[in-house]
Amino acid sequence: MSDFGSVRLFLKDEAATVKAGTQLAVALNAGAVIYLEGDLGAGKTTFTRGVLRACRYQGSVKSPTYTLCEPYELSDGLQLCHFDLYRLSNPEELEFLGIRDYVASNAILFIEWPNRGEGWLPPADLSVSLSESGEGRELTMVALTARGGVMAAQFGEQSV
Ligand code: ADP
Ligand code: MG
Repeated sequence: MSDFGSVRLFLKDEAATVKAGTQLAVALNAGAVIYLEGDLGAGKTTFTRGVLRACRYQGSVKSPTYTLCEPYELSDGLQLCHFDLYRLSNPEELEFLGIRDYVASNAILFIEWPNRGEGWLPPADLSVSLSESGEGRELTMVALTARGGVMAAQFGEQSV
């Protein structure tokens, strides 16, 4: 699937999706780019909420459905930006959302519906896909860079 490694996981309920997010959080570092794939309601925002909780972000985590981008200040001066590009009408709008500045400042990017921003987004280190599977979800994480490979390995180690 990928030279850099991949991980597959069954998530039986919402709590398992949040937990998977917390497992990825420990592997994150500045500038990491994660694409989140899957249909509406697949669990992409739930997964991101898990990441933010593990980063000890206490506030509410809303889906940036209309704002398209929600920045979070984490401890250690790290910034995480959560994008939901479902309603992006033109990828050029990403310029106005400040994508360049986020990349330049090494923010961690979580991007739902990355295909809507094709050509205007930095390449992903990791692709995380969620899909319905029975009552739960199946998560597939594919590393697309060496850095993504390290993250996927750290994520996978915690799943066993
Ligand atoms: P997306 O961002 O992909 O559109 P959301 O995270 O906003 O999806 O919503 C996912 C929905 O699916 C929520 O109602 C959540 O409770 C539910 N959910 C999340 N993970 C699971 C799971 N592993 N099994 C069953 N339901 C889940
Ligand atoms: Mg969402």
